[in-house]
Amino acid sequence: MEYAVDVGGTKIAYAIVDKARILAEDSVATDGLPPEERLPAVGKTLRALAKDRGVRPFCAGLSLPGPIAHGALLHAPNLHGAWVGRSISEFFSMLDLGVPGAAQRDALLGGLGEYAAGAGQGLQSFAYLTLGTGVGGALIVEGHLLLGADGAAGEIGHLTAEPRGPVCGCGRRGCVEAIASGTAIAKIYTAETGEEVHGAEIARRARSGERAAKKVFARAGIALGIACAAWAQVANPQAVICGGSLAQSLDLLLPTLERTLHRRAWEANLPLPILPAQLGGPAPLVGAAHYARQSAR
Ligand SMILES: [Zn+2]
Repeated sequence: MEYAVDVGGTKIAYAIVDKARILAEDSVATDGLPPEERLPAVGKTLRALAKDRGVRPFCAGLSLPGPIAHGALLHAPNLHGAWVGRSISEFFSMLDLGVPGAAQRDALLGGLGEYAAGAGQGLQSFAYLTLGTGVGGALIVEGHLLLGADGAAGEIGHLTAEPRGPVCGCGRRGCVEAIASGTAIAKIYTAETGEEVHGAEIARRARSGERAAKKVFARAGIALGIACAAWAQVANPQAVICGGSLAQSLDLLLPTLERTLHRRAWEANLPLPILPAQLGGPAPLVGAAHYARQSAR
């Protein structure tokens, strides 16, 4: 049994997890506050939850909305500045849960959550793609997250898909994220039509056959196909699992995604099924608990 905490820009969700199943959970608004004004109360509530239920979690997992390197949160644009540069051990002291803890980036833990209790159950190696306001990725290899030297492995959102494409938030040109994130889809649609509409509305228009809307999704699908082909060649995963809010529009992305993937990937790396994620919002919590358990061993 584990404690799990998922810090996001809007809310901090927390839970007690038992065998990849959420036993008790709750959340508080992040409210743009520094960690010392949020984590101690979260830790206190978690300890009370465990006491009420008569359970004793043996470790704690923490999901953070930014990369972690050398034991500290490197950057997190959606959080109060006081979170950035702080060491992971400081966050765990603020939580004061009295058990060993391990922290990782949310996109990676979302993938691990799918491995433990979602669409990745029964798979040993797969890629996880999270499509939302940004594009994130993770690689699960033999049941473990591939972290790389600095924990930045699998960052497929910043793979170049169109060398002359739109400028990305990272400052480079033509990244997958600059073409296929929810934000990018809305931005490109506005540039093409002059209309400012929400992503869900663009998806509705694409389904009803509107040319401009279909074109934006087709282009995003190509960028994602390039990303999936890269994964196929480098890591030979058994599947790509797609999560995040934009995964609800996977049907609009799949035709060009699969065509691009099959044109670009070597036959030995195919077929590479593209599957929808199953866990949704709680994926990072379940992943954080699993990661903590793996790290505590
Ligand atoms: Zn980028």
